[in-house]
Amino acid sequence: MIIGGGPAGNTAATYAARLGAHVTLIERDVIGGAAHLWDCIPSKTMIATGGAMSFTKRIQGMGLEQQEAEVDIAALEGRIDDIQGRLQRNTIRLLESQGVRMLMGSARFVSAHHVEVTTSSGVEVLEVDAVLVATGSRPRIPEWCQPDGERILTTRECYPPKVFPTSITVIGSGVTGVEFVHMFSSFGSNVTLVVSRQQVLPSKDPEVAAVLEDDFLRRGVRLLKGARATSVERHGDEVVVSCDDGRVVRSSHAVLAIGSVPNTDELGLDTAGVQVDRGYVTINRHCQSNVAHIYAAGDVSGKMPLTSVASMQGRKVAEHVMGLQKVAHRHLDYDKAASAIFTEPEIADVGLAEAEAFAEGRKIRVTKVPFSANPKALINNDSRGFVKILSDPATGVVLGGSIVGRHAAELISVIALAVTANLKVSDIVESLLVHPALSEALAEAAE
Ligand SMILES: Cc1cc2nc3c(=O)[nH]c(=O)nc-3n(C[C@H](O)[C@H](O)[C@H](O)COP(=O)(O)OP(=O)(O)OC[C@H]3O[C@@H](n4cnc5c(N)ncnc54)[C@H](O)[C@@H]3O)c2cc1C
Repeated sequence: MIIGGGPAGNTAATYAARLGAHVTLIERDVIGGAAHLWDCIPSKTMIATGGAMSFTKRIQGMGLEQQEAEVDIAALEGRIDDIQGRLQRNTIRLLESQGVRMLMGSARFVSAHHVEVTTSSGVEVLEVDAVLVATGSRPRIPEWCQPDGERILTTRECYPPKVFPTSITVIGSGVTGVEFVHMFSSFGSNVTLVVSRQQVLPSKDPEVAAVLEDDFLRRGVRLLKGARATSVERHGDEVVVSCDDGRVVRSSHAVLAIGSVPNTDELGLDTAGVQVDRGYVTINRHCQSNVAHIYAAGDVSGKMPLTSVASMQGRKVAEHVMGLQKVAHRHLDYDKAASAIFTEPEIADVGLAEAEAFAEGRKIRVTKVPFSANPKALINNDSRGFVKILSDPATGVVLGGSIVGRHAAELISVIALAVTANLKVSDIVESLLVHPALSEALAEAAE
């Protein structure tokens, strides 16, 4: 049984069924999960439209007359619905083709081997050999802020966009926060970002964060550094955000982007004897909980909250349950997960970070090439950013890298493959790449 039909759950269901398991998938909301409904898909669709709008402002340098694009909110909403619908139908078709039984309802453990499922037609208790908990997470709401879904928002209330705020305060400067800053400022809102540290994206390379901060300042985003929000109040049409250092921001809207909490509180995990840590299921490297036949994958496992990681965990769980780990099973190495931030420019990284290497006193070779020297970047009229590759000076093995620039989320795959397959910088240098292409900067950085 799989509880939750997001990326972790539906990938595990497909693979386990393909490997011969009888799979029942329980989903209380939408097959495709929060990833399709609220998180990745609507946010990236809106960012793509915002990106197209800001591109129209940059075409002048490309020999074209400048055109101001105007957003059509109804059409944008239709586009989000259409993409979500297509992805959901594809996922359901795939699950059906593998013979997965899908039950729309809410599940909870009544013992370690029995799960109660409440559907619109009643309650049934199913006996299970193995269970995957893949119930995801939801936005964290602190006691000092009560979202009203109208002007005080969580990330889930930003779509479909009923109106674009004239001004908005974004609370939280991690990945989600900066993506929302980028999105709202692309659509013309006046944005203030409350940054609790002295740098946006505090866990990222300062050089990477600096490029993003420059873009934000260029767009007129106000950065409130070193400030923690302590209260958010609505006064009529105005939202007032107060910070611990006495600063106060007034705007038409505010959005909370301060992390998430796991969906485990109503699952009856204690009845099944499953250990949790702050609500996250504690797992081993096979994604097994302390109860051997109960697994957890995706956001609920407290590892990296990424769709790609959730799906890969789901796949590994299927392999483990079906005994495939004894044949050709590679453990999931979270340190080698590539991730991206869909701002402008995009930011992507994988593997070892420079700061991490210095903290460990590890000898590394760092090579960096700016896009300003890349022919395709100049042709694109966008030469911001750089490629940085970290390698082992003794062996040349690629250890990690980061890319800031257009299409960084796509380009990082080359470094991700090198990191996963232990390739050397010489393997990248000797690849015959396309010219003119942004990827040439990768070969140069590998030199
Ligand atoms: C704004 C935002 C943007 C993001 N963008 C990206 C991105 O661009 N790229 C990326 O890699 N990651 C992104 N993420 C993270 C990504 O959305 C999550 O990591 C991903 O959804 C995790 O997948 P999951 O399968 O664990 O959970 P989910 O996608 O949350 O699915 C869990 C499912 O379980 C169901 N469920 C819960 N409890 C029960 C129950 N008791 N019974 C039955 N069903 C239940 C839920 O209804 C849900 O459908 C983003 C997150 C946010 C907040």
